[in-house]
Amino acid sequence: MKKDFLINFSIAPKDDRKQALRMRRFFMAASAYALCSSLAYVSYLSGFMERECIWGFLIIIPIINITLYLLFRTGLNLKMADPSLTAIQMSAAILVTMYGMYFANESRGVLLLIYVMILIFGIFRLNTSSFLYISAFTLLTYGIDIVLLHLYRPQGINFNIEYLQWGVLALVMVAFSIIGGYISSLRQNLSISKSQQAKSIEIIREMAIRDELTGLFNRRHLMELLDQEKKRSSRGGGMFCLAMLDIDHFKNVNDVHGHLAGDEVLRTVATMMNNSLRNTEFCGRYGGEEFMIVLTQTDIKGALICAERVRTNIKNIVFPEIDTNFKVTVSIGVSEYQMREDVEKVISRSDEALYRAKKGGRNRVEYT
Ligand code: GH3
Ligand code: MG
Ligand code: MG
Repeated sequence: MKKDFLINFSIAPKDDRKQALRMRRFFMAASAYALCSSLAYVSYLSGFMERECIWGFLIIIPIINITLYLLFRTGLNLKMADPSLTAIQMSAAILVTMYGMYFANESRGVLLLIYVMILIFGIFRLNTSSFLYISAFTLLTYGIDIVLLHLYRPQGINFNIEYLQWGVLALVMVAFSIIGGYISSLRQNLSISKSQQAKSIEIIREMAIRDELTGLFNRRHLMELLDQEKKRSSRGGGMFCLAMLDIDHFKNVNDVHGHLAGDEVLRTVATMMNNSLRNTEFCGRYGGEEFMIVLTQTDIKGALICAERVRTNIKNIVFPEIDTNFKVTVSIGVSEYQMREDVEKVISRSDEALYRAKKGGRNRVEYT
């Protein structure tokens, strides 16, 4: 059990791309903490930083990073409004900076750049209002630092410079909030247009493979599918059969009941044919009032049973809007695909069978 855990353990999740991305950002932030701590240590060695600060960092920074890591790795972050925990990570960093600034002596002005680094962390994530909250929080923490310095360590501090720094920081924060908000709205628009693009591509794809009137596959797509079937078959995937179906005396329907009624008959026949097929069978409109059915994983016997079922179901359709006595029948020609022959061959054999069905009196199934 323990061994299994060690083998399966990974620092970041392997199966969740979004979560892995969030953790990558967290590791980047953790590296920044490590760099800043090293800088703080160098500052301490050079006499710019108090000793307490280093001890504080040694305790606070690991606590923050271990907590964040556990939040991400256990998936608890997913329960929060923003699973990337951007604002929380930024707020924690601002508090650590507040702590460091208090002990920073003359180097406080330079350390303001750390705030800029923290803001950059959020620039692709936060909107203007979140940015304004982070800005207000930053200015508040720096303000608290100034008050604490007044109270406890006023020696050698030029407070006029501190006020000036606070003011400059406020300006930078406002600018960042505006730019950050602008970038986040750009990102939003980009992701909206990306999802619109995906939808449009899906619509165009559907239009390219479907017949407009019946909603069935069109001739071009049928030929593509047949080609795939042929390849599957030559790889040892088994034989398949092909049926051509033609509506009997369809010209009469148009002539007697009008073109719109003809269209309605085409749609209804198409739906009935499609509904009569199983998962291993597919069909489409080959042209005009002619349809094609492809029956995979079956021999001619199974194909004939299926064709007979389609013929009967269509014969039984009632069209109350056209005429209660109106009936439509179909003739069907079936043929089995022979190994390695061109698909055109099997289509022409089915056509021959269809011709015989018409010759033989229509409303019947024939095969070759
Ligand atoms: P048969 O029993 O020999 O098949 O006779 P038929 O009248 O069905 O055959 P024919 O090929 O002479 O007529 C087919 C008719 O189908 C001619 C054409 O106007 C009509 N047709 C083709 N496409 C459409 C369509 O999209 N809508 C309508 N309403 N009619 C169509
Ligand atoms: Mg016809
Ligand atoms: Mg025809």
